[in-house]
Amino acid sequence: MSTTPFHGHCMCGAVRYSVSQPPKWVGHCHCSDCRRHVAGAVATFLGCEEAAFSLTAGEFSRYTSSPGVQRMFCGACGTPMAYQSEQIPGEIHLLIGTLEHPEDFAPVVEVFCKEKLPWLKLEVAGPSFDTLPDMAE
Ligand SMILES: [Zn+2]
Ligand SMILES: [Zn+2]
Repeated sequence: MSTTPFHGHCMCGAVRYSVSQPPKWVGHCHCSDCRRHVAGAVATFLGCEEAAFSLTAGEFSRYTSSPGVQRMFCGACGTPMAYQSEQIPGEIHLLIGTLEHPEDFAPVVEVFCKEKLPWLKLEVAGPSFDTLPDMAE
């Protein structure tokens, strides 16, 4: 993982952020909730330390998609931007499409493959889990 700090923003530019440390991981999530939130075939996240993350413009709008789970987006343009869960304290998961240089961060894991769309073909340089690593079946 290369450049830090790295930066991202929504489509309209109202919400901007900076991250001062490399991500802990980069991965695809195939769960139906993430798919719905990004309205695409798969959601690709950078798992970052919340302490390394800062908003540099605007504020997130938030939607509680399930108890303890927040989905963040730009309230002006609607760009999905991030995920936080009370189950994973101290982390924020940033959607890779909001980065200024997503090409710098190749996914190394995929999770919730049991919900993966059958026609989706991805090459991931790392493990694939049916659900999450610590509860893999
Ligand atoms: Zn926006
Ligand atoms: Zn998910």
